[in-house]
Amino acid sequence: MRKKIVAGNWKMNNNLQEGIELAKEINGLVESTDIKDVQVIIGAPFVHLTELNKAITSNKIRVSAQNCADEKSGAYTGEISASMIASTGTECVILGHSERRSYYGETSEILVKKTNLCLENNLTPIFCIGEVLEERESGKHFDVVKSQIADGLFHLSVEDFGKVILAYEPVWAIGTGVTASADQAQEMHAFIRKTLAEQYGEEAAQNCSILYGGSCKPSNAKELFSNEDVDGGLIGGASLVAEDFMGIITAF
Ligand code: PEP
Repeated sequence: MRKKIVAGNWKMNNNLQEGIELAKEINGLVESTDIKDVQVIIGAPFVHLTELNKAITSNKIRVSAQNCADEKSGAYTGEISASMIASTGTECVILGHSERRSYYGETSEILVKKTNLCLENNLTPIFCIGEVLEERESGKHFDVVKSQIADGLFHLSVEDFGKVILAYEPVWAIGTGVTASADQAQEMHAFIRKTLAEQYGEEAAQNCSILYGGSCKPSNAKELFSNEDVDGGLIGGASLVAEDFMGIITAF
């Protein structure tokens, strides 16, 4: 049975003190609320990871990085390796976010290396995919998403694929206030699951958590999450305010 997951992506927000404060607030709310079987993930900047892992006491919250290096170790000034991330107690890494793909030139080739390094270090990749507006308007969105999945992940064995969380994030909905409709989200998530079933079989496809991301808020989370193939959300802006994030966590 696949997990219901709400993951926050703080991006480049919050200094260390602010991050710890926010994490403690979320931790307190999660501890004092019946969030059923929802798994919460906090995607924080690298410099927060060690302290965040100490501050969080709830076993319902996992800490995630937002990126990792595409090499194991060595002369790569300024990079942070998957093994360094794992050594902080962090359990997940967001990979292939559209901001990384578009601003930092992350190709599928690079993402294959990052995915492999995460898995080698027992880190769960939260692998992001999604089309830009032009691709949707020209009817290419299904092809684009299928290629992103195939090129970035289909080298994995079925066993390793089973460790991956997918996040469908239509780029036109990220940080824009425009949300995909519940029908648009369900249509794409069902397509993704079908694509996974063709590669890995029905059981692996059914077990994969596919999150929706893009202007998800407490006011629209319930409708989005009520779709059969939407297993939760990857949340940007609304994860920076504890009450809003909780409003989404409790929307199932
Ligand atoms: C994101 O960047 O992953 C995201 C979903 O952002 P927002 O919720 O702010 O649209």
